[in-house]
Amino acid sequence: MSSSVLSTKRAAHVGIHPWKLIENQWNAERHIESESLFALGNGRMGQRANHEETFTGSTLPGSYIAGVYYPDKTKVGWWKNGYPEYFAKVLNSVNWIAVEVKINGQELDLNTCAVESFYRELNMETGVLTRRFTARLADGTGVTVEATRFLSMVRDELGAVRYSVQTDRVAQVILLSKLDFNVTNHDANWEETFWTNFDTGGRGNETWVVSETKKTEFRVAAAHCSVLNGAPVGTHESQEVSAIAWSASGWAFTVQAHIPAVLTKYVGVVSSFNAPREAVVERAAERAREAAAVGFEDLLAEHVQAWRTKWDTADLVIEGDDAAQQGIRFNIFHLLQTFTGVDERLNIGPKGFTGEKYGGSTYWDTEAYCLPFYLASADPKVARNLLVYRYKHLDKAIENAAKLGFTHGAALYPMVTMNGEECHNEWEITFEEIHRNGAIAYGIYTYERYTLDRAYLAEYGLEVLVGIARFWAQRVNWSEHRKAYVMLGVTGPNEYENNVNNNYYTNFMAAWCLEYAAYAADYVRTQHPSDYARIVAKTQFRAEEELAHWADVRARMYYPYWEEKQLFLQQDGFLDKDLVPVADLDPAQRPINQKWSWDRILRSPYIKQADTLQGMFFFEDRTDRALLRRHFDFYEPFTVHESSLSPSVHTVLASRLGYAEQAYAFYLRTARLDLDDYNHEVREGLHVTAMGGAWMSVVHGFGGMRLVGEQLTFEPALPAVWTRLAFHLVWRGATLHVELTPGNLSVSVVDGPDTEFSVGNQTFIAQKGTPVRASV
Ligand code: BGC
Repeated sequence: MSSSVLSTKRAAHVGIHPWKLIENQWNAERHIESESLFALGNGRMGQRANHEETFTGSTLPGSYIAGVYYPDKTKVGWWKNGYPEYFAKVLNSVNWIAVEVKINGQELDLNTCAVESFYRELNMETGVLTRRFTARLADGTGVTVEATRFLSMVRDELGAVRYSVQTDRVAQVILLSKLDFNVTNHDANWEETFWTNFDTGGRGNETWVVSETKKTEFRVAAAHCSVLNGAPVGTHESQEVSAIAWSASGWAFTVQAHIPAVLTKYVGVVSSFNAPREAVVERAAERAREAAAVGFEDLLAEHVQAWRTKWDTADLVIEGDDAAQQGIRFNIFHLLQTFTGVDERLNIGPKGFTGEKYGGSTYWDTEAYCLPFYLASADPKVARNLLVYRYKHLDKAIENAAKLGFTHGAALYPMVTMNGEECHNEWEITFEEIHRNGAIAYGIYTYERYTLDRAYLAEYGLEVLVGIARFWAQRVNWSEHRKAYVMLGVTGPNEYENNVNNNYYTNFMAAWCLEYAAYAADYVRTQHPSDYARIVAKTQFRAEEELAHWADVRARMYYPYWEEKQLFLQQDGFLDKDLVPVADLDPAQRPINQKWSWDRILRSPYIKQADTLQGMFFFEDRTDRALLRRHFDFYEPFTVHESSLSPSVHTVLASRLGYAEQAYAFYLRTARLDLDDYNHEVREGLHVTAMGGAWMSVVHGFGGMRLVGEQLTFEPALPAVWTRLAFHLVWRGATLHVELTPGNLSVSVVDGPDTEFSVGNQTFIAQKGTPVRASV
């Protein structure tokens, strides 16, 4: 069959290696892309792979602290009532890695000197970034630098850098180990700086710098202990400039040829998001001091051990295809370093800690794309915290709906948020892309069905579901003409058409939410009566009347349907479009979002990402294969996959339908999206939430792992070149090991109770020790 998969990838400039990204030569143009690809994080903070030393070439400085944001005043051409006042933005924060190097009076800067050799490596197994290069300065001095750094996975307010400099002749060296808060955001709406300097200073071999965000008043302190050649020596320098702040420890000395001067920098970074405001400096200094007492090697060893423990459960082994292996580990690595699940106030921005785009805010991506990965790869409380995050935002979601005219506790979760308030300001998304509410409910369903932790419904889930159900019940209206409930003026997941009526996916999700909320209400009423009474009182739930109305809306919801072809239509007007498949478009016209006017896009039949198919993907176990095939065959040829979220859904569905080649092409597009820069935008940051989709592509798509009802099932479809796929699953108190080779599946219990699963019509019990084998 014809495919819309367009190969626009650029040759990767990082080598293929199962565990590493490696760059073997200096490429000034692509450095800004490498800054995204080689980014580091530990859940509490993260940074792009900016150079430690001064770099005057093309770069996007990025050092981010989880939870610390700035409400950047909204900028729109024409204000509309209901627009949010601001867009919350993750802030570029203190540059704590900086090491300025002057040799014989010349600044070491890879943009201005001759780079003779360059090696950069991100070891994803250990979470360590290293660089080695030799450069020649204007006076002919050759300088070799070796730099290693990590953001501790054990101490999440700590980063460490080891930076060694040697010259090929006797030279005068000045080293400044610096904390630099003189930073801006690339994407500031009004070209403002977001920080005010609060304090800088130094004492002994420590210096610190503290700034506060304007408006939100987050206080962030960085403090470092820097040690040269193992001993704190040299002059100490600190400087304060109002609103532009930095402090540094500096050394001026003579080096002999080929004798390295090794600087070790231990940095504590503490924010008032995570500590009392008045304590941030002292705590940052303590973090740095404690680290200096432990020493670089031991800190590194504990960090590497923490990564190994993570990989023990989260790794996916693919044999026979190194590019696919590297791709999936790259995705898992970034998911693990973006969200560790220790703090329910944190979430996963579409770019994680790798760039400013999307403001670092939370989207429906979390529930729709990321949750399954965390459920299967970590303790269930990690996924649970993602749900509690939304529970904590329920009041804001109710306020948000009230602003739009909804009543009686109806909740509309934001499309984009940092603290529960809506930040998005395009009417067609803010007011119309309301399907996100369905994803929030679906997240609860995914969690509850996967873990069987039904008590969650009583504790938090039901309140959220009631708010969401009330929203849908009010958002539809009765159409006398159709004798059905309709939903007008929406944008589905396909953002390439707006203000459409009866988007099938949105109507479907709304009806499902009403059903699920009713189920949850019934469950809590019968199993947790005292919680039920509390929730009824708190939400003023008029159970009989509201449940009856929800049931009526569900039963009489309208779905656009094309009888002749037995297809649900994406929206009422879909068949009026000029239905030319993507394969017939001139490739030079793509991506259409860069080549066409918005007007032309909106009238076209082209679909940005799974829309009708998104619902079938969510409810695969309720979707009959013939129905799925009809819809996939109809919609995929119009899909341009211009959202990073699109290919993964199509991998899973194509696998299920036996479209092996297509599934594999989609997989590479999702798992190597950033490595091969398919969208030509990796310089802005990575597609971190889409990475959850890459994981689903392998485990749900090729591994064929699905829940049918509540039963764990496997229906594998390994790509032809893969000789083995192996992974662990955290599953209802057990850790399972799953092995797939062509034609064979084996499952064993690594830890925990015996576990039932099925393959086709056969049911098996996996036990600890001996693997159970099945032919597939
Ligand atoms: C997609 C949305 C997604 C957002 C953030 C957009 O391009 O269309 O579905 O939530 O990116 O990833």
